[in-house]
Amino acid sequence: MSGTNLTRDEARERASVVDPASVRYTVELDLTRGDTTFGSTTNASFAATEGAGTWLDLVAPAVHEVVLNGTALDPAEVYDGARIRLDGLAAQNEVTVVADAAYMRTGEGLHRFVDPVDDDVYLYSQFEVADARRVYACFEQPDLKAEVTFLVDAPSTWEVVSNSPGKAGKASHGTKRWTFEPTPRLSTYVTAIIAGPYHVERSEHVGKEKTIPLALYCRKSLAEHLDAAELFDVTTRGFAFFEDVFGLAYPFAKYDQLFVPEFNAGAMENAGAVTHHEDYVFRSRVTDAAYERRAETILHEMAHMWFGDLVTMRWWDDLWLNESFATWASVLSLVEGTRWTDGWTTFAVTEKLWALRQDQLPSTHPISADIRDLEDVEVNFDGITYAKGASVLKQLVAWVGRDEFLEGVRAYFAEHAWGNTSLTDLFAHLEQTSGRDLSAWNEEWLRTAGVNTLRPVVTVDNNGAYTSVAIEQTAAPEHPALRSHRVAVGLYDYTDDGALVRRRRVELDIAGPRTEVAELRGETQPDLLLVNDDDLTFAKVRLDDRSLATVVRSIGSLDSLPRALCWTAATDMLRDAEMSASSFVELVLGGVDHETSMGVVQHVLNSARAAIDLYALPANRTVLSARWAAALRQLAGAAEAGSDRQLAFARAWVAAAASDEHVAEIRALLDGDEALLPGLTMDTDLRWTLLQRLVVLGAAGDDAVDAELERDNTATGQRQAAYARAAVPTYAAKAAAWQAAVESDELPNALLTATVRGFAHPEQRELVRPYVQPYLDAVPRVWAERTSESAQSIIIGLFPRVLADAATASTVRHWLEGAELPDAARRLVVEGLADLDRALRAQERDRQAG
Ligand SMILES: [Zn+2]
Repeated sequence: MSGTNLTRDEARERASVVDPASVRYTVELDLTRGDTTFGSTTNASFAATEGAGTWLDLVAPAVHEVVLNGTALDPAEVYDGARIRLDGLAAQNEVTVVADAAYMRTGEGLHRFVDPVDDDVYLYSQFEVADARRVYACFEQPDLKAEVTFLVDAPSTWEVVSNSPGKAGKASHGTKRWTFEPTPRLSTYVTAIIAGPYHVERSEHVGKEKTIPLALYCRKSLAEHLDAAELFDVTTRGFAFFEDVFGLAYPFAKYDQLFVPEFNAGAMENAGAVTHHEDYVFRSRVTDAAYERRAETILHEMAHMWFGDLVTMRWWDDLWLNESFATWASVLSLVEGTRWTDGWTTFAVTEKLWALRQDQLPSTHPISADIRDLEDVEVNFDGITYAKGASVLKQLVAWVGRDEFLEGVRAYFAEHAWGNTSLTDLFAHLEQTSGRDLSAWNEEWLRTAGVNTLRPVVTVDNNGAYTSVAIEQTAAPEHPALRSHRVAVGLYDYTDDGALVRRRRVELDIAGPRTEVAELRGETQPDLLLVNDDDLTFAKVRLDDRSLATVVRSIGSLDSLPRALCWTAATDMLRDAEMSASSFVELVLGGVDHETSMGVVQHVLNSARAAIDLYALPANRTVLSARWAAALRQLAGAAEAGSDRQLAFARAWVAAAASDEHVAEIRALLDGDEALLPGLTMDTDLRWTLLQRLVVLGAAGDDAVDAELERDNTATGQRQAAYARAAVPTYAAKAAAWQAAVESDELPNALLTATVRGFAHPEQRELVRPYVQPYLDAVPRVWAERTSESAQSIIIGLFPRVLADAATASTVRHWLEGAELPDAARRLVVEGLADLDRALRAQERDRQAG
């Protein structure tokens, strides 16, 4: 085998030849050379089986020298563009590789960005899943950990950051050499290099055993927006919490957090040098939902320092455990250590709904996935891996007990520090501390795919008392497993002042297709019967007719968590065509003004928007959309001046506005009319939102975009402009966007995703329709020729989801039958088709609703 798509079998074989305890790299990088490549010299030393052969991974445009144990090898013979073949190994080996490596514009490897504000260059690395090999020669698999010493030559005005502390030498000819302390044993995917004239803020945290130096970095042109005090506060709270519950001091020498441009994900857990998407430096007003999300991300990456970086999965099959643990631990620390004490409510509407959506796609898979190779894992950073995993982990914690769970985790860290593990290593400790056998749980929850539906079935006598209450459990035919669920059932009644208050709570185990809740026989039927109250299990939940009517009438009268569970149930019913789009929009309009969690407010506003765009019968869309826009305008007008709610309603209103009157109002806001929505801060990004709406409606064009970009010629401004230009409602604009995104690979990742989003605007169906066949034709080529991140941006983002009609579904289905595609690429198209089919069923429901 050769090539970049490393398989699990190859990784196993290599780990049996190379001694995992022996690997060391010294990596010299020369970042002073130019703007397309940089010098990369790796010296690798490792023990191996004598006489055996292996290879180093490297993806680089030029390899100049390969020296194995003093013998120069001919790069043309041993290097194939992805691997350097090493035959005839000695017991102890030294390899030197001298190469030119390439700067990337896709956010993979060493990304290079030029700030349009001041032309400064900023670099950062992103190595997960397997892109350290784009920077240095290495054994690119998580179980061949290594001590790495980085030496970096950089312009003398730059900061250079890596996993370990580093020092710059004296400047000479405008450059400086940075020497970093050797790292502890790390997997290559969590090593990192960040370099550029970054702005720095420093602090420290007095930890359990040592003082941890803390730093924040962002581009100079963003420095005025960096709210260091708040960021350090969350960071410090996280360390206090994790060092305590994990029973182990922070394992690395310092903790830097770097806010970097054009980042593909939210953040990355590089050991001691976490990178965050720089949108987390808020340059415009955002609601508290964004602050909560950012805190959750900070805590997620911090949890990885122990779970992931200190103790690491052997292979990518256990990626789910890595991500689920970090997600669960982050919400736990959010709730117990910060001001966001409602974190589990947000989790219920965001993570859980993501998990439900993913678990009903044809591509769903058991949480514990079979990851045969790197392509499998690259498309597996999904709602199962992060959100369903975290949901069932939460459930597991409830089952073994919080204290027993954490005691097991502490023992696991202590035993496996700096090593690699698989799921069984964690479970062995959990079984020991809890005294419970986890094999059945493992089988039921981790080894089977699909989600169960729990539906209450009740009968009532003439006096309004229950004669029976049962919970029926079903599963989709493709994934028929029924599971054991621990659930709470809540009975809620209206009080005299209209609140919905829980009268009684019953907790029980559910198994099989039908479970009687005998305790509730004779109980007066409540206004709302809520299955899975307190959110103990992972399941789809249904409401009986009386309860649904109560929710539609008064969802706002519930407390935060049950309200979130009802929003989730309703959203799921919408997606399953059990509730029409029109009813869902009414539910949101009736309840959203009473919703107190900004995270939930934004979630339901987005769901309602999707209901109109995708799930409403096309004939109903215009009326529904106008009703939605008018109601949001009222909500924005009635909201407290300057409040988060005002901003959230105003943004949702703008996205829906279409009438002449609304267009005039948007123009007035842009022109500085402060009386229209008093207290609304007209900042840079809100201006873009307003302008983009005018563009989508054809009420403003390229000139206006150019003018706005002149006011805001920043990285974010360029993204906003790219989105706007692709959303101009003309065939020419769509053709230009298509050309830039698909036919050329010149766009950097951030502009690519912005262009793709603008192209596929949900209200521009007729302009997008001619691209269904070109899209399908392009898929195999895009998958073959682009990097993984770019290919996914294009294939997912340009899938003709917005058309949401039967003809498109049929075209795609027919094409899939004949297409020859790698599994990972096919999966993305199959998921798009499943979304289309779902939209068609929902539209049918909306038709019946009349
Ligand atoms: Zn993570």
